[in-house]
Amino acid sequence: MQTVYTFGGGAERGDARARDKTVTGGKGSNLAEMAGIGLPVPPGFTITTEECVSYLRGGADFTDGLRDAVAEALTHIERAVGKGFGDAGDPLLVSVRSGARVSMPGMMDTVLNLGLNDETVQGLAMTSGDPRFAWDSYRRFIQMYSDVVLGLDHGLFEEALEIAKEQAGYFADTEMVAADWQALVAEYKQIVARELGEPFPQDVHGQLWGAIRAVFDSWDSDRAKVYRRLNDIPADWGTAVNVQAMVFGNMGETSATGVAFTRDPATGEKAYYGEYLVNAQGEDVVAGIRTPQYLTRAAREAAGAEQPSMEEALPAAYTELAAVFELLEQHYRDMQDIEFTVQQGKLWMLQTRSGKRTAKAALKMAVEMVGEGLIDEREAVLRIDPMALDQLLHPRLDPTASRDVLTRGLPASPGAASGKIVLDADTAEVWAGRGEKVILVRVETSPEDIHGMHAAQGVLTARGGMTSHAAVVARGMGRPCVSGASAVSIVLKERKLRIGNRELAEGDTITLDGTTGEVMAGEVPTIEPELVGDFGVLMEWADRHRRMKVRTNAETPQDCRMARQFGAEGIGLCRTEHMFFEASRISAVREMILADDEAGRRTALAKLLPEQRADFVGIFTTMAGLPCTIRLLDPPLHEFLPHADAEFADLADITGHSVDHLKRRASELHEFNPMLGHRGCRLGITFPEIYEMQARAIFEAACEVAETSGEAVVPEVMIPLVGTAKELSILKKLVDGIAQQVFAESGRTLDYLVGTMIELPRAALMAGEIAEEASFFSFGTNDLTQTTLGVSRDDAARFLSVYVDKGIYPRDPFVSLDVEGVGQLVTLAAERGRATRPEIKLGICGEHGGDPASIAFCEATGLDYVSASPFRVPIARLAAAQASL
Ligand code: PEP
Ligand code: MG
Repeated sequence: MQTVYTFGGGAERGDARARDKTVTGGKGSNLAEMAGIGLPVPPGFTITTEECVSYLRGGADFTDGLRDAVAEALTHIERAVGKGFGDAGDPLLVSVRSGARVSMPGMMDTVLNLGLNDETVQGLAMTSGDPRFAWDSYRRFIQMYSDVVLGLDHGLFEEALEIAKEQAGYFADTEMVAADWQALVAEYKQIVARELGEPFPQDVHGQLWGAIRAVFDSWDSDRAKVYRRLNDIPADWGTAVNVQAMVFGNMGETSATGVAFTRDPATGEKAYYGEYLVNAQGEDVVAGIRTPQYLTRAAREAAGAEQPSMEEALPAAYTELAAVFELLEQHYRDMQDIEFTVQQGKLWMLQTRSGKRTAKAALKMAVEMVGEGLIDEREAVLRIDPMALDQLLHPRLDPTASRDVLTRGLPASPGAASGKIVLDADTAEVWAGRGEKVILVRVETSPEDIHGMHAAQGVLTARGGMTSHAAVVARGMGRPCVSGASAVSIVLKERKLRIGNRELAEGDTITLDGTTGEVMAGEVPTIEPELVGDFGVLMEWADRHRRMKVRTNAETPQDCRMARQFGAEGIGLCRTEHMFFEASRISAVREMILADDEAGRRTALAKLLPEQRADFVGIFTTMAGLPCTIRLLDPPLHEFLPHADAEFADLADITGHSVDHLKRRASELHEFNPMLGHRGCRLGITFPEIYEMQARAIFEAACEVAETSGEAVVPEVMIPLVGTAKELSILKKLVDGIAQQVFAESGRTLDYLVGTMIELPRAALMAGEIAEEASFFSFGTNDLTQTTLGVSRDDAARFLSVYVDKGIYPRDPFVSLDVEGVGQLVTLAAERGRATRPEIKLGICGEHGGDPASIAFCEATGLDYVSASPFRVPIARLAAAQASL
């Protein structure tokens, strides 16, 4: 198998493998693609992801043949640029960059200016005619290589630079002259020798292999692992390595480097969007070391900035760049995120990829691209990440609320967030872990902060532009972010912030508006989102392509209303036990549970009946004729038992029993394993009067609403935790009996269904028999996962993340269905159920009903509907459409 692919400099366009992201990674395949369509790409080569995987598997050993292939590919670059790698007279310098299948911004390693040593730096000074540039490049290289490959702290080098500048009385790096950089290089080399006990490596080939090794190793760095876990990227993909001739944005005033998006990644607006820096190298823009300048004149003017835009400062290169933007969008039919360098007036493309974007931007771009004829409706539907919609479904700041604005930064990632100030990522994680909302405030973020950004509601940085690490990562995660708020100064020692003349401590609450860039003191009230505009258009397209219905899991009229606004087409699961947690009822519920006998239970149930009936009237009214699946009581009993003395005393008052008596009853009811205990239909089998009361409440409410609204109400009564056909037939008879009684009493009959949950392996296996009594099955995949895996759903959090890290399960099986295992039971039950009763209605109501990957499985299995919590309904609608496309 070919291990290395060359691109640019007249290399062949490359076969399909060279342009396959799984082989050459995102960066490598797009470099090959760009070179192939004639864009100016510095020549280079890509080592495949497969090599990375075998290197990591093989105990950090390179495969035979890789060295020869790399040597040959290097010759390709040398020939193309007419320079020699390690040639003291006219040296070739290269960049060595990672590039996985999907972009993992900043997570893995990069080394620039590789190939410099004490001799080649002289050659570079000669051929460029610019010793300052040569020595600047060498010091950059030493610092980066020492950090990335040799594992030295980059702070050591930054400190040395700061001291050098201070001694010379300089303010900016640009004031350093050639001799200053040369002296700093000598000092850097001393630092390396002192810290490492050996000199900085002078052999350029040794440097190259060191960098390749570092990039491969960085695939398994802690931060890359965290990123993979957060983004569901499999551990066995590996990264490619791209080695490419350097082009220099730091060769004076006609040189520059920049990053750009072909459309605005925050709003989706069709306007070039980006930043550049004159006389700089790539990492200067992203790292936020110097504040970058705008790309276009319009953007500069809108921001009231003084530094000229690229359009004004380098008009010829800008015109060429704009043409490249158009070409790339036409070619990829998507918004591109681009890195470029201008070396002495000549434009070079260093990277292109589909740009990360906010959900709002994704929708706007998809809808507009359909209008532009770039893509069709189906593709627009397929382009939106369903989970990203979540960003749009949550509240935004109330525009009429008063705001105590502390300062304003760049609107780097939209949305509103309030929380307590935390000043480092670890603190963010700890505080968030104990349930607090936090805002991570940093001078700038780096990839080491990723876990803190994830834990936080929002991110505020003092430095960095719209394309800084914080901005890019926050947009990807859907976290609101305000970046470059330069009025913010952080006093880490005192755990404080100063903003102008205001002082805030860690723990004080602030609010961010990532859409305007405002930073506000305290918590600003929010309002519900409006699901109109591009969102509405795209959801309509999705609905047109969807086969499965989408219902909701809800038990209050308020949730039902919200779910309907989000497009729910019925209730897939109304958990009646949730209706009993309310303070006003819990005593009656406890009275029922702790009663000594049936008579005692009936007394308590009589109190609950009117309340329960009112619940269902509310639900049926809100759902206005849409199907409603109501599940009879399924309480793990321990959740309802009284604990505190005051609760027992209350209950004693109500029931007339002594506190001691009640405590004894409670301890008799104690279960060692409540999840497998006296719950679900077992309760209905042992205490039929409970289900009788509920069935009565359902049918009385249905008759009442049918009467008043004139609308057909078709209740679907669902029996939980069934394991045998016999359980279901006993309980179905009970429900049918009550229905007949109520119909006789009210003089009105209704259609209704009785069905069951399939949430035990035995139920799945016996589905053929169970279907004889069931009009529908609803897969309760929470319990089905728990019982199939033998993993307690309430205790799994403690160890499952380790399982996911080790790749034992690809994702948390309580979040994304274990298709391989649990999925077999679902498929089998669906087949057996249909064999008995071809028209049986099949749905899913476990948490998986809102997870796109699980929804794809449901589509493939031919389920009729999925049911998800209200906020997940739009996600499910889109995911269901994508699954059927
Ligand atoms: C399930 O088990 O998947 C289910 C929906 O029921 P609950 O979560 O209420 O046990
Ligand atoms: Mg269940």
